Amino acid sequence: MDKVNLEKLLQNPAVAAAASLKETAWLNPGLRPFAQVREQLPVTWEQVEEARQRLERFAPYLSQVFPETAPAGGLIESPLKPIPNMEKLLRQQGALQGKWLLKMDSHLPVAGSIKARGGIHEVLKHSEDLALAAGLLHKGESYACLARPEFREFFSRYTVQVGSTGNLGLSIGIMSAQLGYHAVVHMSADAKQWKKDLLRAKGVTVVEYASDYGKAVEEGRRLSQQDPNSYFVDDENSLDLFLGYAVAGERLKKQMKEQNIPVDKTHPLFVYLPCGIGGAPGGVAFGLKMAFGENVHCFFTEPTHACCMLLGMATGLHDGISVGDVGIDGKTQADGLAVGRPSAFVGKVMEPMLSGVFTLSDSRLLPWMRALLQEEGIFIEPSACAAFGAVPHSGTLKEYVLAHGLEPFMANAAHLAWATGGSLVPSSVREEYLQAANSL
Ligand SMILES: *Cc1c(COP(=O)(O)O)cnc(C)c1O
Repeated sequence: MDKVNLEKLLQNPAVAAAASLKETAWLNPGLRPFAQVREQLPVTWEQVEEARQRLERFAPYLSQVFPETAPAGGLIESPLKPIPNMEKLLRQQGALQGKWLLKMDSHLPVAGSIKARGGIHEVLKHSEDLALAAGLLHKGESYACLARPEFREFFSRYTVQVGSTGNLGLSIGIMSAQLGYHAVVHMSADAKQWKKDLLRAKGVTVVEYASDYGKAVEEGRRLSQQDPNSYFVDDENSLDLFLGYAVAGERLKKQMKEQNIPVDKTHPLFVYLPCGIGGAPGGVAFGLKMAFGENVHCFFTEPTHACCMLLGMATGLHDGISVGDVGIDGKTQADGLAVGRPSAFVGKVMEPMLSGVFTLSDSRLLPWMRALLQEEGIFIEPSACAAFGAVPHSGTLKEYVLAHGLEPFMANAAHLAWATGGSLVPSSVREEYLQAANSL
C-alpha cells in the first residue's frame, strides 16, 4: 500500500488507535435495523436450513463413530452456562449490568473448538456430494452406512486439505481421517505443537510453515489444485464453513428458551465472539441475527496485534488491508486468532449487521483463563478468553446502549461470552498456561 493511502487511513481514529496497538473499540456506523437487512441477505435462511438438515442426516453416523455425540443423538452441540461467579469478577472490572453466560464451544465434541461447527459441516457436505455422485449413497437412506468399510475404502482415494492456525486443522483433519480420506493440514508457525502431534497420531499429514496463516492457506490451496482428487477447505472464502457455523443461531435460541432466558425488545442479548479471519464468528453472528433479529447485538473481539477484522471493517477495505499495512506484526499468544488479513466474504456479509469490534491486549488472556477456572471450574484456551474482551470497553458499550435506546432494559440484558476452544488442550499444556498466569 502506498504512503498517501496509509496516511489517509490513519485519519480514521479507530484505525490510528489500532495501528498504535492500543486497545481499540470500533462501533459500526453501517449497522442497520435487521428488518431492513433481512430481505437483502447474500446468504439465505434456506441455505442455513439445508446445512441444519445435512447435519441431522449425518447424526446417526456421527453418533456411531464419535460416541461422545451419542447422548445428543449425534448432534455436535455445546452447553450454555450461566457464570455468576465470573460475572461478579467481570463487574469489578467494569462489565455492564445483566446476566453473564458462557457458550461452551470450547467443549464441542470431536474437535474441542468452534471449528467443529463449520469444519465438520464442510467435510460432510463434500463427502455426501462424492458418495451420491458415485451412486454409493442414496437420498433418503440412513447415513449410518458411512461407517462401513467400503465407504472408508471409497474416501481413501480422495484427499482433503486445509490451511490452519490449529483448530480448523483439528476439525477438518479429525473428521476427514475418520471418514477415510487422506487428510493434509498446512499449519502456520503459530500452531501449537500439541495440535500437530494430535493430528499426526490420527494419521493426518501435517505440513509445517515458518510463516503466517496466509502463507499456509496459499500453499495448501496451490498444492490441492495440482491434484484432481484433492478438495481444499478454503477458510478465506468458504460458504459451507459459514453455513455450518450459522446453524448455531437456532440451536442457541432453543437453549435460551429451555433455560428461561428471554430475548426480546426489553431483554437484549449481547454476544462477544473471538475473531481470527472472521468465518467462525461471522457465521455464528449471522445465524444469531436470523434467530433473534434486532434483539441480538454481535461484537467481535481481536488481539491488538492481530486486529485484521477491525481494520477491514473500519476502512471498508476487507481483504484489501492487512495488519502489516499499518505496521502491526500479527504476533499474539491467541494462536487461534493470529490472522493478518480478514475474509472478504465475511466482512461484506457483516457490514449491515455487526455491532462493533473490540481489541484487547494479550496480557488479559491468561488472567481471565485462570479466573474462569477458579470461579467456575471451566478451562478454556487463551484465544477463547478473548470472549471477555468487551469488558475493558464498557465506556464504548454504554455509548452503544444509549444510541440504541437500550438503557432502560440493561438490568434484563444477557451477555454471552462465546468460548471458542479448549477442551482438547493436554493437561501438561494447561499446567504451563496456569503457571504462566501465576507468574504474571
Ligand atoms: C479459529 C478460532 C477463532 C476464530 O475463528 P475465525 O474463523 O478464524 O475468525 C476463535 N477462537 C478460536 C479458539 C479459534 O480456534
